[in-house]
Amino acid sequence: MNTTARPATVFDIQRIRADFPLLSRTVHGKPLVYFDNANTSQKPLPVIEAMNEHYREHNANVSRAVHQLGEEATAAYEGARDKLARFINAPSRNELVLTSGTTQATNLVAYSYALPRLQPGDAILTTVMEHHANIVPWQLVAQRSGATVKAAPIDQRGELILEQYIAMLTPEVKLACVTQVSNVLGTVNPVREIARECRKRGIALLVDGSQAVPHRPVDVQALGCDFYALTGHKMLGPTGTGALWARREHLDAMPPFFGGGEMIREVRFDGTSFAEAPHKFEAGTPNIAGFVGLSAAIDYYQSVGFEAIHAWEQQLLAYATERLREIPGLRIIGEAAEKEPVISFLIDGTQATDLATLLDLQGVAVRSGHHCAHPLMQFFGVPSTLRASLAFYNTREEVDAFIVALLKVRKLLM
Ligand code: PLP
Repeated sequence: MNTTARPATVFDIQRIRADFPLLSRTVHGKPLVYFDNANTSQKPLPVIEAMNEHYREHNANVSRAVHQLGEEATAAYEGARDKLARFINAPSRNELVLTSGTTQATNLVAYSYALPRLQPGDAILTTVMEHHANIVPWQLVAQRSGATVKAAPIDQRGELILEQYIAMLTPEVKLACVTQVSNVLGTVNPVREIARECRKRGIALLVDGSQAVPHRPVDVQALGCDFYALTGHKMLGPTGTGALWARREHLDAMPPFFGGGEMIREVRFDGTSFAEAPHKFEAGTPNIAGFVGLSAAIDYYQSVGFEAIHAWEQQLLAYATERLREIPGLRIIGEAAEKEPVISFLIDGTQATDLATLLDLQGVAVRSGHHCAHPLMQFFGVPSTLRASLAFYNTREEVDAFIVALLKVRKLLM
């Protein structure tokens, strides 16, 4: 991506920060430094207000009512589908299944796409750097079917070893999976190349886009994958929102996963028929207000622009990395050539959780732990890391405050 397209001076960070009320609060009497964005992002006022307005003015259930409010709620919910489809350049709105997040999306693919196809001896390919949401669903369906889950290796820099991933795309692989951006390492994976190799071999590819959509424009058609999963709460939207994009041919062939209201054409005791995709995968009342908020989140990203976001975040990433490297005994885990603003690290002689607890007392919110990536921790031979994950509403001054706090708590623990 061209990071020089827009100079940082046109990026009005103070105006942006004013849109995020939570950023101006204090924690333990200190100004908050929120560096836990890979966990969940903060929400701008337009998102909060859109949800508020929905409940104040338009609340009703979707699809079931002919009254005005029902029509308004349905239009808002279906409008979110349109917006999400455009946001990731899906060829059709009908290829977007609205879910509660990435986890529901990967489980839908596991039970509805993979399980009916898996035979004993088949395999699902994933990688060592995946979030558990892109490992455990595959293990569950592999156990039921006699298939196995294989994991493509990474190197010490935290980069996927592409040749090995490709070499592992053998005929018994019925589904390949990869994260576009690692939630622990920040590594950006070569998804287009992987998709090209999968297509050559007729293997469907699922991309976990959870950590990509908050940082970069996504075009599922250009990526060339078969499934793309995303979660709304990491991209300025509310919790409990997300989506699965899938090629139409897959959605048409997949049986429903959840049954209930909204997903049927006719229910009879001698045989129920189902609605067309995507509705056949959306049983029950959805998170209507949540998707209203997610719509507003997409508008917000578009008003700021990904070029500006990318340029600013890359500056912050470079600056934070440089400042962290000044700290004696600090080891960064994940030094890929192309990264999003996520920095995992350890400091000799300290525990990540102790550091995170003491940082919290300084007003700094970072995550410590395994980040739902046990196999990755096993690869690096560590039980946990400390992770600072940045967003476009963060500043260099916050990086400075984080470094001051880190030096202070490090001293206390050594
Ligand atoms: N995949 C990645 C890379 C993630 O970082 C996360 C969340 O941390 C998930 C999947 C799961 O997302 P959710 O819990 O919103 O379904």
